[in-house]
Amino acid sequence: MQHCLECGSVIFQYGGRKDRKFCSASCKNKYWNRQTNSRQGYHLKIIAQLDHNYKILSRLLSIGVLSIKSEDMRLLGFHFDVMTGHHRRMKRDWYECFDIRYLQMPSRISNLQYIPVEDAAVGQKP
Ligand SMILES: [Zn+2]
Repeated sequence: MQHCLECGSVIFQYGGRKDRKFCSASCKNKYWNRQTNSRQGYHLKIIAQLDHNYKILSRLLSIGVLSIKSEDMRLLGFHFDVMTGHHRRMKRDWYECFDIRYLQMPSRISNLQYIPVEDAAVGQKP
């Protein structure tokens, strides 16, 4: 017995198809709309987090701060798990947030710098 993925009603299988997942077109539409909305919501959340990180990093650069404790970044609401680029060089982890690059160590973020846009991670060889 198959239940509707949207409302949980029992689906009466009939006709050629025996794999119906929804009791009605309306339930099918509701289900897929919600899936799309949550994917779009996820996308927007990540973009907002990147934007927030970028604002913090560019503000630090604008006042000449090139190195800061991870703990202070956490207090500023920095999202450590989102970035637009990552390179591992000489056993050090360099991250990029759009055109800003930084070295991330467990206790600090340092070497904050703007990078020429043509050098940004997209299309760059490691
Ligand atoms: Zn249904």
